[in-house]
Amino acid sequence: MSETRIGLGYDVHAFAQGRALVLGGVEIENATGLAGHSDADVLVHALMDAILGAMRAGDIGAHFPDTDPAWAGASSLGLLARVGDLMRADGWSLVDADTVLVLESPRISPHRDTMRARMAGSLGIDPSRIGLKATTTEGLGAMGRGEGIAAQAVVLLERS
Ligand code: MG
Repeated sequence: MSETRIGLGYDVHAFAQGRALVLGGVEIENATGLAGHSDADVLVHALMDAILGAMRAGDIGAHFPDTDPAWAGASSLGLLARVGDLMRADGWSLVDADTVLVLESPRISPHRDTMRARMAGSLGIDPSRIGLKATTTEGLGAMGRGEGIAAQAVVLLERS
């Protein structure tokens, strides 16, 4: 009988001057990017934490500590590929994932399918297995004031 598990991931990064904005592995033209040790791809970080959560394998802070210079400026898609390797090595496959970005701007819809394809490519799965939506907070809170971007992800893993 196969075993299934769900995992939940959540991440927030603040906007910062002089940084590229990378979301779902796609560089998006914007006046500011996100602050962070790696490329600060908040969406990929949430997805990685969801996968690691379903594996009961800690979190990305444990696997890729921001005190380690090896991960400075790292491509989060590359880290996602490593998480995918860990997942498969532990016998798991990703059945399905859904994600949401919480932000006021920029608009996500023109980039949605490219982001889904990039993340799926890193994991070696079909893009149909990863959903992506975006929402605002109607001006409320830090995201509403445009101070940063939050992301949530949920995944279903299975192993037989
Ligand atoms: Mg992060």
